[in-house]
Amino acid sequence: MGVTTGGSILVVAGTHGNERNAAWLLEQWQGDAATLNTQGLPLVFERGNPAALQACRRYIDRDLNRSFAPELLSDPAQQDLEVCRARELLARHGPQGAVPAQVVFDLHSTTAAMGNSLVVYGRRAADLALAAGMQQRLGLPIYLHEADGAQTGFLVERWPCGLVVEVGPVPQGVIQATICRQTQLALEAGLEVLAQARAGALTLPRQLAVHRHLGSVDLPRSQGGSPAALLHPALQGADWRPLGLHDAVMLKASGGPICLGEVLPPALAGQARYWPVFVNEAAYDEKGIAFALTRREEWSVHHGWCEALQVQAQGL
Ligand SMILES: [Zn+2]
Repeated sequence: MGVTTGGSILVVAGTHGNERNAAWLLEQWQGDAATLNTQGLPLVFERGNPAALQACRRYIDRDLNRSFAPELLSDPAQQDLEVCRARELLARHGPQGAVPAQVVFDLHSTTAAMGNSLVVYGRRAADLALAAGMQQRLGLPIYLHEADGAQTGFLVERWPCGLVVEVGPVPQGVIQATICRQTQLALEAGLEVLAQARAGALTLPRQLAVHRHLGSVDLPRSQGGSPAALLHPALQGADWRPLGLHDAVMLKASGGPICLGEVLPPALAGQARYWPVFVNEAAYDEKGIAFALTRREEWSVHHGWCEALQVQAQGL
């Protein structure tokens, strides 16, 4: 991937139109530069999906954060509002865009009780370095999303480096001071990492803790598609807390529990423990996801990660 000197950092808020905390922050940052510590880095701001923000809906035609798949973008017959918006964002700030960005932060919120976390897509060295530096500063958990054929076309994948900041729990459409605060802290930590990388002075911890995505679990459904059970109250709000196969994860209408082992998709079998995330996320009902399961892993930080991020940051 070529590096364009004079590139910038793209900060996107409101990729989902009912996630309004980061969109509110973005207005403040644009209105008064002193409200964000940019570390002197060149930033450009974009409201991800202005039409959906206005309607306070996740999206109009389709999920913008699943609309960046190359086969969608290159299909001239594909004219959904979000695919057109994805093309527009890339034309403005993509690596070959009018004002190219090297790095992107995509700021989201969730109704799940995940606190402040980072989502990294795949294993690009620069992304892992950025996430490791942010984890070192704020202790943020890292959700590594990869190899899920049902979930593709994420925004940050189209830039040389980037990650998602995810903060919750907050209801859709609601702005809360703590959610805004956590979002801003994460972005400022990321900018600090990039400023150090640009100066060639970045040092990373030796270890990185990741929660690697394994797959997701849905509630049992009636023929009409409505849930035939509820999420178990013990799992509600218990994101990141390890689960065994005998732990109750759902509740039947009769009141009886359903254990993880009873609903675990065969492809996810083989682990002694699972770490759930996006538990009962409101936006995922339509995707057939009651919760996602991860595996917690400790990785050694590779020397090459730091170098990969410095290559991107030195183009800023
Ligand atoms: Zn979102």
